[in-house]
Amino acid sequence: MIIELAPDADAGAIRRTLDAAGVWTAALHDADDRPRMLTVKAHSPAPPAGLVEGLAGVTAVYRAPSAHPLLDAQAGRAVPVGDVMVGPDAAPVLIAGPCSVESAQTADWAAEQAAAAGARFLRGGAFKPRTSPYAFQGAGLVALEWLRAAADRHGLKVVTEVLSERDVGAVADCADLLQIGSRNMQNYALLKAAGATGRPVLLKRGVAATLDEWTLAGEYCLAAGATGVIFCERGVRGFDGKTRNLIDLGAVAYMAHVARQPVIVDPAHAVGRRDLIPPLAAAGVAAGAHGVMIEIHPDPRVARSDAPQALSVNELNAVATAMEVHHG
Ligand code: PEP
Ligand code: MN
Repeated sequence: MIIELAPDADAGAIRRTLDAAGVWTAALHDADDRPRMLTVKAHSPAPPAGLVEGLAGVTAVYRAPSAHPLLDAQAGRAVPVGDVMVGPDAAPVLIAGPCSVESAQTADWAAEQAAAAGARFLRGGAFKPRTSPYAFQGAGLVALEWLRAAADRHGLKVVTEVLSERDVGAVADCADLLQIGSRNMQNYALLKAAGATGRPVLLKRGVAATLDEWTLAGEYCLAAGATGVIFCERGVRGFDGKTRNLIDLGAVAYMAHVARQPVIVDPAHAVGRRDLIPPLAAAGVAAGAHGVMIEIHPDPRVARSDAPQALSVNELNAVATAMEVHHG
């Protein structure tokens, strides 16, 4: 962005105002060494909408065309999911539920525990992306009904993954928020179909996706008609096998504080072991995450997917407490 100044503009005052808003500028001087232009540095957080235009002494503002204009319009704003706001300036939300929805009973148990812990969303997969074709693939359409009924009984929103274009309609009928899983972050046909439902999308980061790729995948959803995009950091492929993935808190901080997009953290899929989830949930919120997604199960030993990272009720409450403390 280039900001043109009037000859008598108080460039120092303008720069101080922008500086106070967290915007990094540099001054370009004319032949008489007066500041005539300010440039907003490439890696600066974007100025809040209208701030620059409203400053005394600014005569014109030039912007390079953005690669993601719809996300730019979303920047700094929370995404509404029904009456729950997720994103900047909204209280961090807790999203909890089973990895996969195994039965009506476990869905109801999860909804009850999640609501009691202060969660606003019930999660759970009806269609599961599994590494092995022989692993449990999810209970399918009926699980969507179990999830919706359980959430409604306990006053929660539903977020669930849509794995294929074929199921987009059924998932959108059940879910308040459509989850695109890590493995599908760059499945552009699916992103378009999910966006076209007119629902908000929870977009998980691919295991090797750059922030630009993740961002543009979000733009795909908005361009197709999604009412909002919430980004979810769930760990990227690391070099050490001690934890399942490498939680990228720098990416969380970047999305929250520089891109100013709604972003949540999923420490469960990132670290893959229950004992490390509460501290990493806290770290995610401290880095700027607007929410935390975790997995819970009435008996983690028999969970049909992701058992090592399924939390008990005590651990669920530990996450809720850690989020409060770190949000302040
Ligand atoms: C999930 O949240 O159920 C899931 C499969 O996560 P991811 O896409 O991040 O692996
Ligand atoms: Mn899982």
